[in-house]
Amino acid sequence: MNSTSTTTTRNFEVHDSKVLDWAKDIIERSASSRLIQKEIINAVDRNAIWRGEECLNLLAPEAPTSQTVRQLLASEVGTRAAEGHIGPTQRWFSGTKHIDEIESLCVELLKKVFKSNYADHRLVASMIGNMTVYAALTKPGDNILTIAQPFGGHSSNRYDGPAGIRGLNIYDVPMDPVDLVVNMDDFVKVAREVKPKLVTLGASMTLFPFPLKEMSEIVNEWGGKIFFDGAHQLGLIGGGQFQDPLNEGACIMTGSAGKTFSGPQSGIIVWNDPELTEPISDTIFPALAATHQVNRVAALAASAAEFLAFGEEYMAQIVANAKALAKALYERGITVLGSHKGFTETHQVILDVKQFGGGLDVAHKLAEANIITNKNLLPSDKPEDWDYPSGLRIGTIEITRLGMKEAEMDSIAEYIVSVLEGRDTTESIRKQVINMRSAYKKLHYCFD
Ligand SMILES: *Cc1c(COP(=O)(O)O)cnc(C)c1O
Repeated sequence: MNSTSTTTTRNFEVHDSKVLDWAKDIIERSASSRLIQKEIINAVDRNAIWRGEECLNLLAPEAPTSQTVRQLLASEVGTRAAEGHIGPTQRWFSGTKHIDEIESLCVELLKKVFKSNYADHRLVASMIGNMTVYAALTKPGDNILTIAQPFGGHSSNRYDGPAGIRGLNIYDVPMDPVDLVVNMDDFVKVAREVKPKLVTLGASMTLFPFPLKEMSEIVNEWGGKIFFDGAHQLGLIGGGQFQDPLNEGACIMTGSAGKTFSGPQSGIIVWNDPELTEPISDTIFPALAATHQVNRVAALAASAAEFLAFGEEYMAQIVANAKALAKALYERGITVLGSHKGFTETHQVILDVKQFGGGLDVAHKLAEANIITNKNLLPSDKPEDWDYPSGLRIGTIEITRLGMKEAEMDSIAEYIVSVLEGRDTTESIRKQVINMRSAYKKLHYCFD
């Protein structure tokens, strides 16, 4: 080897180099490509057993999909190309008559679930939905207000995401660090000064509703609009368990199909005003989606049909479980945000775990006990705390779909506290979790 060290000659990687080396080693060691392919399948199978059968998945943005939805994701139609708008004239390719049927069923089902005049089915991610809104409804240099990350804001609406790529000037929506809602007095001041074109309400940490009516009355003074990024709350909204943004003053809403909505991971966008239809649709195609995965569209339509039948009951139980889990943790001495106002009105429970070593440490410790959560920034965290925040975010989507109710939340709280306080060995808690999970195999709120 010459004098240059391996670290400087090596290409820069953002990924963990140890993990990439593991993969390189497998690829080099395997006697044939077929064996490499087998390694991929093995990893998928290991995940399916661990995460699919042995864990309590409490990640707030995750939802298990029904077998029907999963089968549709692997369907033949996923190999077909169908650019453009639905119908025989506005597509580039022919042979799409059945694809038109699938896509129109999807669009009409989404309109029905969200009681909206318009919906689009072509967003391969909710990030693309947010990019669509910024591209269609703003110009570079416009002012917008969005929520900062320590208060639950999401990168898609900040400088490092689509809003930043659009070249917007981003100001913070003032939030109350204790009540975890918009501080209306400060909002009125900032908004009247900055006169934002859009106010984006997008929150990945979300416990309580937003004062949408009051906020829209203010921004209407200069023709500003409210954009509701309901990535997390989408299912709760469709199931009538949260506020109804399009009816309360938001002009457009995006959301993740794979969070509370419990469909295939992708995005949804809905609106009512016919004047938005052209700018939004022209941005989706041809700017941000071409082949948009028709297998995913079929799966999305199928999950919307499940949602029509079971959404209300399913979403109500998700919220009831979150409240029960929050209370059970609080009663065991854990600091739970929003404890002075009923903990939560969503699928989320937010803990302050600073005293247990912070969110990163705690999330890894819980994962060793097969309890999957994520580290989370809290309003009290500073920018330098980014990688090591004080909070932990918990969600009740998956455990609810597996049929768990309030009584089971008590057992889950007990496992979590046992890990946090080191009351029992991780190995022992892990065994108890696997044992508990083995009684909940069937997926509820679907036709399977
Ligand atoms: C998760 C999330 C997104 C991105 O959604 P994807 O479907 O993962 O692209 C956007 N905004 C908010 C507030 C989110 O929480």
